[in-house]
Amino acid sequence: MRPGRRVGVLGGSFNPPHLGHLIAAQEAAASLELERVLFVPAGVQPLKRGERMASAEDRVRMVELAIADNPLFALSRADVDRPGPSFTVDLLALLQRQLGPEVELSFIVGADSLAELARWKDPARLLELCRLVAVPRPGYSPAEPIGLGLPNTRMRDRLLLLPIPSLDISSTELRARVREGRPIRYLVPDAVARYIRERGLYTGGD
Ligand code: ATP
Ligand code: MG
Repeated sequence: MRPGRRVGVLGGSFNPPHLGHLIAAQEAAASLELERVLFVPAGVQPLKRGERMASAEDRVRMVELAIADNPLFALSRADVDRPGPSFTVDLLALLQRQLGPEVELSFIVGADSLAELARWKDPARLLELCRLVAVPRPGYSPAEPIGLGLPNTRMRDRLLLLPIPSLDISSTELRARVREGRPIRYLVPDAVARYIRERGLYTGGD
């Protein structure tokens, strides 16, 4: 049987996108032989409601700037163009419909997001729709699959822990740096830093 086309998906607020996101996507693409990684900025995130966020269009633009020089990476507006709260399982079903049944989806998450898996909507269905690729994140140890609510082997086999260089960078810290006038150079692509500066993003309270 001809192997399916493998596509990676990196969902996030990207508020703003940073080198941690880019390294995770690049490492997953290389290790899993992904033909492409889709960066999917979130519309309204169920677990993040109420937190201050740059507009969807600013976050989309920053992702475009961050990935522009990498032909493996592409932006998907699937989530921002969809009304209502965006659950990962619904997003993956939508992407599968858009990309076609021959595509195998790998959903890339940091260890912090993986730890929340049991709180996500319908983890069993999620793992039918995609392989889950978890990358390390400083401060978060890779969770035990059983603690994650993955009771059976079939589900656990869909989870891959992928070792990559750990970068202690978060969008939360970057927003604080901008607010406090500290540098973000070398933590985000130059074009993203320029956009943040020109648009005056993250200068108010968080
Ligand atoms: P925030 O601090 O606002 O939550 P973030 O830095 O966690 O921002 P998100 O947009 O929330 O960025 O993350 C999107 C995805 O990328 C999540 O799965 C997250 O775990 C992962 N991720 C973010 N930063 C890193 C990093 N430094 N290393 C590995 N994975 C990361
Ligand atoms: Mg986060």
